[in-house]
Amino acid sequence: MKIFFASGNADKLREVREILSEHEIFAMDPQIVEDGQTFAQNALKKATAVMQKTGCITLADDSGLEINFLNGAPGIFSARFLQNASYTEKCNEILKMMNDARDRTARFVSAIALVFPDSRKFIEHGYLNGFIADKICGDGGFGYDPIFYVPEYKMTIGEMSAPLKNKISHRRCALNLIKKYL
Ligand code: IMP
Repeated sequence: MKIFFASGNADKLREVREILSEHEIFAMDPQIVEDGQTFAQNALKKATAVMQKTGCITLADDSGLEINFLNGAPGIFSARFLQNASYTEKCNEILKMMNDARDRTARFVSAIALVFPDSRKFIEHGYLNGFIADKICGDGGFGYDPIFYVPEYKMTIGEMSAPLKNKISHRRCALNLIKKYL
C-alpha cells in the first residue's frame, strides 16, 4: 500500500520504512508549527497537513524522551531542547542535569497518527522504558539513543543494532498497534 509519512526527519523515515517494509512509504515534511500540548495532538496535526496536500493515506510520528527526575522533560520539546545544538551537546546537557539524580528512570514515547482521505483518524501510542545512562555509549540510532539504557539488554540504544532497536522501540510498538487500521 502507498502511504505518506509526514516527517522531515530522515532517521525516523528510515526506521518507519524498516518496520513497515511491506508498504511503500513516501515522505513529505508537513512544515507545521508543533503547538500541540501532547504527542498525539502534534502527530495528528502533521498527518492531517500531509494528507490534505497529497490526498493519500498518511502516517505521522510525534515522539520524545520523558525523564521522571525532570518531571517528564524534555517530553514534547525533545527536538526543540537546546535548539541548534548537536545531539552530542543535548545528550551531555541532559547528563549534566541528571548529575545528582537518584531516580534515573525514563521512557521514550511515540504517538503515531494515521489519517485517511475520507477523514478517518486513528492514534496509537508506544513506549520504551529504561534509564538515563551516566555517560554517552554507542553511536547507533539517533537523538538521545546513546544515553538511553535498556536494562533487559544491558546496553544503550546507541549500542544496539538497527534490527534490535526496531524490534523493541516505542515507534515499533505504536506502529504495531496502528497496523490493524491499514
Ligand atoms: P519530533 O520530530 O517533534 O517528534 O521530535 C522527536 C524528537 O524526540 C527527536 O528529534 C529526538 O530528539 C527524540 N526522539 C524521538 N524518538 C527517538 C528515538 O527513537 N531515539 C532517540 N531520540 C528520539
